[in-house]
Amino acid sequence: MPETGDCGLQLKGVVKSFATATALAGIDVSLPAGRFSVLLGPSGCGKSTLLRLIAGLDQVSAGEIWHGATRIDGLPPKARNLSMVFQSYALFPHLTVAENILFGLSVRGVARAEQRTRLDRVAGMMGLSELLSRKPAELSGGQQQRVALARAVVSERPICLMDEPLSNLDAKLRAEMRSEIRALQQRLGLTMVYVTHDQVEAMTMADLIVVMNAGRIEQVATPRLLYARPQTVFVAGFIGTPPMNLIPRTALGSVPAPQGTATIGIRPEDMTLQGDGHRVEARVREVEYLGADTLVALEIDGARVVLRQSGQAAPLRDRVTATLPGDRLHFFDSRGQRIARPDDDLSDQQETSRDPFLQANPLGDRDPRIAVAAGLGG
Ligand code: ATP
Repeated sequence: MPETGDCGLQLKGVVKSFATATALAGIDVSLPAGRFSVLLGPSGCGKSTLLRLIAGLDQVSAGEIWHGATRIDGLPPKARNLSMVFQSYALFPHLTVAENILFGLSVRGVARAEQRTRLDRVAGMMGLSELLSRKPAELSGGQQQRVALARAVVSERPICLMDEPLSNLDAKLRAEMRSEIRALQQRLGLTMVYVTHDQVEAMTMADLIVVMNAGRIEQVATPRLLYARPQTVFVAGFIGTPPMNLIPRTALGSVPAPQGTATIGIRPEDMTLQGDGHRVEARVREVEYLGADTLVALEIDGARVVLRQSGQAAPLRDRVTATLPGDRLHFFDSRGQRIARPDDDLSDQQETSRDPFLQANPLGDRDPRIAVAAGLGG
């Protein structure tokens, strides 16, 4: 079982430039030991580049990477005490499952008896004991994925890096593997850094999500805080299905908002067609029945806004009055930054009291990036 000790990862001012582009423009973040951190963002935002820098497959252009008290950015990959799982499982087709799992240990010259002990333990844990003599071509996608995970786990390295490991699987298997990987990480106390562009994967698996955009970090927070208190318009529009409505302040002239507000945000499930709150006239544009929910697309003074109702919506007239509860509004300035609400601190405290991870690592600072870097380092 890997030692977790104080093996968190710290990235300080990490820059990666290629000849034609700057992929990472200064990344500062602490990824806590024994926790599941997810790098989340759209295609091309720099997630894989960052993972490759941590792994040592590429070199930083500037900045430092630390593992606990050791600076690792100058070390070769094999000296970094980590394992990696890629999207392509990278299994050797001519080797059996057992040989694939043990490949790294053989290369490292680990004694045969030790290899056997670890293989038995990991194969049992991953449900692969019956498949050890098969070749990868004789396995299902999920089984192949499990072999790739087993190969990482058998190395007993404290840090595990995963780059979109589930994207080749169908939806049902993906959901199963999500919980398997999460359970494995917790059981082994691994420091996990997991890359995905899938927000559901991030929200369901992570202790901490690092949202990236165009080579920069937008926000670092727990899934719940990220959803409840997005710090930027980008995060607000990226998390949630459908995402938060981001309405020009000018379209909601009657709704009180702090000075400097350029955009007002409200989640589809926070709007209603009755109840208390600010009332605005809207035209119904489209009604989409999804089974458990109904999405109603509205137009409010030229802005398209989606409202979610649970169950099947009653037939709607062409014009309705939508209600926006005041305590559910999010305000952003013209640079897309959140304008803090008086109750933001309160929601932090409530969030902290609900979440054991936060109790141990309070995100008290206004900018969670700083709080995380200060509170969880090393
Ligand atoms: P995806 O989800 O599509 O894999 P990503 O967030 O992982 O995206 P990266 O692969 O890290 O993004 O790429 C970040 C940026 O760096 C992109 O603009 C990409 O084109 C660029 N980039 C990555 N590798 C290289 C390279 N070897 N040479 C030049 N540019 C590169």
